[in-house]
Amino acid sequence: MIPAGQFTPREPLRTLRFGTRWVIWTLRPAGIAFLLAVEAVTLLASVVVVGHTSGDLAAWARLGLLVVLSVIYAEVTDRVERMWVWLHTERGAWIGQSSILLFAGVLLLPTWAALVQCLLMYAHIGIRNKRYSTAPAHRWVWTGTTVLLATLASSYTFHALGGGLEHVDVVDLLAMVVGALIYSGVNLTVLLVGMYLALRPPTVRELLPARSEVSYESAKLLLAVVAAALLEHTPLLAPVVLLFAALLHRSTLVGELRAMASTDAKTGLLTYRAWSEQANGSLTRCQDAGRPAALVLLDLDHFKQLNDTYGHAEGDRALAAIGAILAEEVRAQDCVGRYGGEEFVIFLPGVGEERAVEIAHRLRDRIAGTTGGAAVTGSFGVAALAPELGTLEQLIDDADTAMYRAKDRGRNTVCAASAA
Ligand code: GH3
Ligand code: MG
Ligand code: MG
Repeated sequence: MIPAGQFTPREPLRTLRFGTRWVIWTLRPAGIAFLLAVEAVTLLASVVVVGHTSGDLAAWARLGLLVVLSVIYAEVTDRVERMWVWLHTERGAWIGQSSILLFAGVLLLPTWAALVQCLLMYAHIGIRNKRYSTAPAHRWVWTGTTVLLATLASSYTFHALGGGLEHVDVVDLLAMVVGALIYSGVNLTVLLVGMYLALRPPTVRELLPARSEVSYESAKLLLAVVAAALLEHTPLLAPVVLLFAALLHRSTLVGELRAMASTDAKTGLLTYRAWSEQANGSLTRCQDAGRPAALVLLDLDHFKQLNDTYGHAEGDRALAAIGAILAEEVRAQDCVGRYGGEEFVIFLPGVGEERAVEIAHRLRDRIAGTTGGAAVTGSFGVAALAPELGTLEQLIDDADTAMYRAKDRGRNTVCAASAA
């Protein structure tokens, strides 16, 4: 049997980020020092800038309007936002919805007022956090700090480049683009450096935002520009932008929920439902094109014994490690899913039985090899698609029967349905 702690699957992407509930004193000292230093510098810079508050009534009026709009927006979209927070509790998403009105503020307000807007909006976020106890205070201070710093840098740049919204020309557009890049860039850089120092991941790549996050952030900054232009010229139409923002928020959430429902939490593989949907589609395409297809079903050997000896947590780590091996060993067009407890299914389009048996042997060797020979092994059943009828259910049935034959033959082996 395997020694406890032997399974150390690679961390799935993004669990390395700060989740919603990270705790500051569990971070590495270099990370804590960086976070506190950034907070101190940002606070100091903000105090200096806000100290230059002027009596500019128009600026105060716009500031008031932006804060009122953001409070209303946050309260109206509360349910979606809480679902969003719940979804990202463990993996730490990059961005909240507040950047739409915050970046609009960067474009519309003098720097001191943009900072005041940021502080007021974070005060409101703090109140909401307290209401739902979604995050500890230091997380709120840290995200608030990164946004404050991003606002400061981007507002300063926008105004230094001569950007404005009155009669938008090429210079204004350029200032907006640079301002947006600085806003996201400063925010991301500070977060990345903080997380790198605090968590020391093996590669920085694991901390970088996914493509979907980058496009979501870009969409929000674009909405911010439209919101700012409307607030400057036709303020009555500004709420329309917020309606778009709410739709964007909701549709992104639906996408995330869909991805979540298709992913098995313990192994990162497809859930059975998502797997059968994909495998069925692939099977139909193979039948239409007259191509072969095969299915491999595997059941881990004596898995109950592993749980009983080392505990279920170790069993879960073994499942994750084996899930990672399966995902790594197959081609992009193959579908790998978790069939049930310690059973996995792989649909192989374009592959005949002989080749599928070879693949199953390779997987068998990898699994047995990784876990130290006498450790976790699997019994494999292989079935090939019959040319005429043949459904996914039939394939699973055939592979299952073959798999039980592999169990009978002493486990850690591969049996083909045709070799009955
Ligand atoms: P066999 O070689 O005959 O397949 O023996 P086995 O012990 O693997 O078979 P059995 O069906 O008796 O037990 C399957 C075990 O898989 C029992 C269950 O505790 C374990 N299992 C199923 N799902 C999970 C899971 O998500 N996590 C963990 N840790 N164990 C699981
Ligand atoms: Mg089983
Ligand atoms: Mg088993």
